[in-house]
Amino acid sequence: MILDGKALSEKVLERVRIKVQKLNRQPHLVVILVGDDTSSKIYVKNKRVAAEKVGIKSTIVELPDSITEQDLLKRIDDLNNDKDVTGILVQLPLPKHIDKNKVTMAISPKKDVDGFTPENVGKLAIGLEPYFYPATPQGIIMLLDEYNIPIEGADAVVIGRSNIVGKPMAQMLLKRNATVTMCHSYSKDLECKIKTADIVISAVGKKVVRCKMDKKNSVIVDVGIYRDSNGRLTGDVDFDLVSKSAGYISPVPGGVGPMTIASLMYNASKVY
Ligand code: NAP
Repeated sequence: MILDGKALSEKVLERVRIKVQKLNRQPHLVVILVGDDTSSKIYVKNKRVAAEKVGIKSTIVELPDSITEQDLLKRIDDLNNDKDVTGILVQLPLPKHIDKNKVTMAISPKKDVDGFTPENVGKLAIGLEPYFYPATPQGIIMLLDEYNIPIEGADAVVIGRSNIVGKPMAQMLLKRNATVTMCHSYSKDLECKIKTADIVISAVGKKVVRCKMDKKNSVIVDVGIYRDSNGRLTGDVDFDLVSKSAGYISPVPGGVGPMTIASLMYNASKVY
């Protein structure tokens, strides 16, 4: 069965739209874009389109590559203190002379719609409720729940340990009582770990999932998205091979990507 992220994302966005209509104030998301990176511009535009669709006010603050770290931190501080602004997101990557950790840490945890600040990450790690969960893993949990995939007690393998996907994904699965194995570029016998899992979440950016699954109802979620040597958009999973033995599989595109945007809008609709 295909885990249809595109279809579910439409449903989630509609739910967010209805929720926003009922709020007594309009959420306001500010996206900070530093420099001219083409991909970043596309991502930011997609976020603005999604925000408009659900009735969230959005402002894009475009800043030049030459901005100093100090000036960027000042802009964030101003937004933290601006009562009209309910969500702040800094589009990554940032220019090399700016420390992305310092920038992330400057955002108020109550406006940190990406869920990347130490307070939100720390709360997730110690089992408390963060103000915001990171969008991609939260979207994946929504996808698993939509298809009634049991998480409790499942053997889950998370491949990739980035701060934005792999690590929070593992924490969220753990919170739901899965038994989690985290894999990365130093992991041995990856294929053996993958094929015996109930749930595999791959966030690498390379074709790392290429084996037959042992369990009939196994679930494969492909987070990876990149262009192959022919310029075609692809993911981490050899779809043709793996889909023959897995029970559920998410496609690329049309799986995790649209869920990330919908999940971000869910976050942006929260007002603290
Ligand atoms: P990342 O920072 O690019 O890191 C990649 C991770 O993969 C690292 O932890 C690395 O291990 C691990 N890795 C590399 N080669 C490996 C191998 N051969 N076997 C096992 N693990 C390996 O991660 P990311 O930012 O999470 O991005 C991963 C992919 O997901 C990218 O394709 C990105 O475009 C995509 N992505 C998609 C969405 C979406 O919404 N669809 C959102 C975010 C990311 P080490 O730590 O040991 O180096």
